[in-house]
Amino acid sequence: MDTAERVLAYGGGWLDRAGPLRTDPTRLSALLAESSTVVLALWRDRCLVDAGGPVRLTAERASLVRSAAGETVFLGLDGDVAVFAVDLSALPERAAVEMAGAARSVDVRALVGRLDPGDAAVQAYARGLLHWHRQQGYCGACGAPAVADGGGHMRTCTGGECGRLLFPRIEPAIIVLVEAPGPPGRCLLARHAGAAEDAFSTLAGFVEVGESLEDAVRREMAEEAGVTVTDVTYQGSQAWPFPAGLMVGFRATATSDEIRVDGEELLEARWFTRAELRDRVASGRTLGRVDAIDHRLLEDWLAAGS
Ligand SMILES: [Zn+2]
Repeated sequence: MDTAERVLAYGGGWLDRAGPLRTDPTRLSALLAESSTVVLALWRDRCLVDAGGPVRLTAERASLVRSAAGETVFLGLDGDVAVFAVDLSALPERAAVEMAGAARSVDVRALVGRLDPGDAAVQAYARGLLHWHRQQGYCGACGAPAVADGGGHMRTCTGGECGRLLFPRIEPAIIVLVEAPGPPGRCLLARHAGAAEDAFSTLAGFVEVGESLEDAVRREMAEEAGVTVTDVTYQGSQAWPFPAGLMVGFRATATSDEIRVDGEELLEARWFTRAELRDRVASGRTLGRVDAIDHRLLEDWLAAGS
C-alpha cells in the first residue's frame, strides 16, 4: 500500500473484492444466508447509522429487508466474512431507517474523521455502486429494462436482440497543484464560482473524451486560468464515488506568472507562497477539503519547502 492509499479517505483496498465470486450466484446466496455475513443498508446515497456507526444487519433482518428493498450487491470479503450492501432507497426515509434498525441516515462524508477509514471506504464503495444501479434501470441503447448481474457489478439489457452488458461508469477528474516558474516558491489557487469569499483551492476539471489525463491538465489550466503548464507529474489518485468520480492528482509548472481567469468557473486566481498558506492555516482555515486529495497536494507542497 503506497502513501496515497494510506492517507486518502475512501480508498485503500480494505476489502478483497473477490471478483470470481461475482459469477457464482449459488455461492453468493449461500454467503448471504450465513450468520457471520455483514449486510450494510443504504438509503439514497446515505449511510444508515446508530450510535455505534453504520448499522450491520443480522442475517435474519437482512433477509427481511431484502424482500422489501432494491438491489443487493456483493462488495467483497473482509477476511472470511462476506460483505454485501442493500439499497433501501425505494422506501420513505423513516421506513428505511426503521427497517434497518438504525437511528438516522447520514452522508458518509459527514462521518469522515469519526469513522474507521476502512468503514468509510466500504460505505463510499457501496454508495457509488448502488447509486449506479438506480441510474441504470434501462439500457441506454434500446431502452429495455436492465437487470443486475454479476453480484451487482454489472447489469444486462433484457431487450432480446440487444442484450448489452452495462458496467458501472467512473468519471475521472484531474486536480492540479500548479507551481510558479521561478522563485519564490508559489502555488496557484483559485476561488471557484459559488465558493465563499475567501475560499481558495486547487484547480480541477473533468477529463474529456479522447484526452489523456495529462492533456486534460494542460487544457483545464489554460481554459480556466490562462496558464500554460509543463512538467505534469502524477501525484496519486482518490476514489470519489460521489457519485462516480475518480480524482487524479498532479503537480505541474506554469511557464509564466501571468494568470487570466475565465470568470465563469473561476472568479479569481492568484499565487500563494508557503508562508501565506501557513498563515492561512494558523488563522484557522483548512487547506482544501480535509477528506480530499487537494488537501494532500497542498500539504505535500508545503512540506517540500520553507
Ligand atoms: Zn438494450
